[in-house]
Amino acid sequence: LGSLAATGEPSAVRVSDDCTVGGGRFTWIAGPCAVESEAQLLGVARAVRERGAHLLRGGAFKPRTSPYAFQGIGKDGLDLLRAAAAETGLGVVTEVVDAAHVEAVAEVAHVLQIGARNAQNFALLHEVALTGRPVLLKRGFGCTVPEWLHGAEYLLAAGNGKVLLCERGVRAHGDSTRFTLDISAVPLAKRLSHLPVIVDPSHACGRSDLVAPLAAAAAAAGADGVMVDVDGQGHAALCDGEQAITPDAFGALVRRTDRMLHSL
Ligand code: PEP
Repeated sequence: LGSLAATGEPSAVRVSDDCTVGGGRFTWIAGPCAVESEAQLLGVARAVRERGAHLLRGGAFKPRTSPYAFQGIGKDGLDLLRAAAAETGLGVVTEVVDAAHVEAVAEVAHVLQIGARNAQNFALLHEVALTGRPVLLKRGFGCTVPEWLHGAEYLLAAGNGKVLLCERGVRAHGDSTRFTLDISAVPLAKRLSHLPVIVDPSHACGRSDLVAPLAAAAAAAGADGVMVDVDGQGHAALCDGEQAITPDAFGALVRRTDRMLHSL
């Protein structure tokens, strides 16, 4: 690894006036898997802000396994994210899947997300790095930790050091959960790099009932924050509804985890 080799102090990434990720703070990123409508997004954004979220997540462009599944509402979703950020004051984390959309996404996003399926799309990583915006880099579900870090290295090599690593589960032998959260990747990535590490338990397990224990495990393992799918519609959500927790469950998770972190 080049500039990622741990160099003393872990880096903190300033996302907005109100939010810096890393540097000893624990960051909560919450929101719907996919932006669907104004009522849905604003409702969730207000609810998660009241319950302790620092950043709002929501996909406008959705990379789906099946081409026949809901693919997101695209640029209309970006407009809704902009409105939700303006109303709630929350910074936005949203995915960019295509180099052609980078400029439009960067106008709205405080953090540009690179999804698991594009973790090694180096041309896209390069374009996203050039925006100068913070980037949340998901681990590809078939990537080793060094492969994931080399993806981050592409961002750094293009001059963008504002990188958040995100562990989101890998493909393992079992099929009882959607993917398998690699909890050991959290301390390992922090040992091998200076970058903040976020964990996404929702996409890792694909089940709302397992999100809270996995989030607690992430916090205990030293993660700098957690990104969770929160949606009031439950299983009716158009994208990954079975893994979304309710706003109240999110609030309880924040309270419990913050208590746990204070007692460590
Ligand atoms: C997401 O966070 O919306 C997402 C699609 O995640 P992943 O790329 O990890 O599957």
